[in-house]
Amino acid sequence: MQIYADNAATTKMSKIALDTMVSALNDLYGNPSSLHSVGQQAKEALEEARATVASCLGCEPREIYFTSGGSEADNQAIRSAAHQGAKKGKKHIISTAFEHHAVLHTLKRLEKEGFEVTLLDVHENGMVSAQQVKEAIRPDTCLVTIMYANNEIGSVMPIAEIGAVCREAKVPFHTDAVQAVGHLAIDVKAQNIDMLSLSGHKFHGPKGIGALYVRRGILLENLIDGGAQERGKRAGTENLPAICSMAAALKDACDHLEENAAKVSALRDRLIAGLSTIPHCALNGDPVHRLPGNVSFCFEGIEGESLLLLLDAKGICASSGSACTSGSLDPSHVLLAIGRVHDVAHGSLRLSLCETNTREEVDYMIREIPQVVSYLRGMSPVWRDLQTGKRQYIL
Ligand SMILES: *Cc1c(COP(=O)(O)O)cnc(C)c1O
Repeated sequence: MQIYADNAATTKMSKIALDTMVSALNDLYGNPSSLHSVGQQAKEALEEARATVASCLGCEPREIYFTSGGSEADNQAIRSAAHQGAKKGKKHIISTAFEHHAVLHTLKRLEKEGFEVTLLDVHENGMVSAQQVKEAIRPDTCLVTIMYANNEIGSVMPIAEIGAVCREAKVPFHTDAVQAVGHLAIDVKAQNIDMLSLSGHKFHGPKGIGALYVRRGILLENLIDGGAQERGKRAGTENLPAICSMAAALKDACDHLEENAAKVSALRDRLIAGLSTIPHCALNGDPVHRLPGNVSFCFEGIEGESLLLLLDAKGICASSGSACTSGSLDPSHVLLAIGRVHDVAHGSLRLSLCETNTREEVDYMIREIPQVVSYLRGMSPVWRDLQTGKRQYIL
């Protein structure tokens, strides 16, 4: 059995996305900037894809800019808003401690350029409130950037309330919605969102393609200079096959949003209930305001990395949510932000489901994971100390 439960890292392309990509590679080879008919055919497909993405977000097509993915969209939105603010002497930015690194590292760079960044504390359930945002806004605040839903622990922020606070204070509001688009109903106008980042490969589209929504009236600055593509805001010949494929994947996701969310959240809740029987564990993130596919736990007395290797041997593809891939031994900044101590944060496991996962797969994981956890605990000196009372249990 091979179970893919790492859909927050990336998803398998859907058949419709794959078919759209292949036919665009075959038939839409023209350059959308060319004036001849082959180019104009490509241009039409480009604008059709833009209209599709716009209708899924509730905005106008001209408010959508295609990018190379979520990271580029985050970089462009944040750097642009910061530089627009600086022109008016406003150099204060509000964000949170548990953003994706595409946001946090962009903010770090801006700090070096003289901006001041306030990172809001995240509550232990993984939530940030509109009240916290309201209290942090200053006369010199030029941007609020807060993620729609967290990629590690799955908590979903009160985006409409935060949007209302920002709109009232006349501060631009950007949200990294990479984990939310295609999974949760989004209406950028009703939610008072000024800028929003999305990425194709998180909703069964291709990798290396994304988009940035920018409300009309908000000035957008280039990250990449060159030709006049994307109304002069993002140079480079458009990745048309990926754009068409992403739009098809997004339309498919939005057409089946409620049905998929109901199915996936039922699997999620079954898995959460099954794993909660493991002693000395804790669910990360909010139990209610949660992405349909996210299951995130900390297990005391084990290392997340060893758990992943053993689960992989049993055919379960999961993630620890910790920074092991970067070669550092530091635990995940997200788990630290919600107050998990280092020892506990090291024993994390994230399983992220999608609508093609099955109840049989979930039941297999509910059978196998507790066995692997207790096997690892049996070899763990930390667990022995906990059991003999040399150390105190935290969970
Ligand atoms: C995946 C992800 C990104 C990065 O998107 P890419 O398209 O891979 O660059 C940014 N933010 C969040 C929350 C993500 O989950």
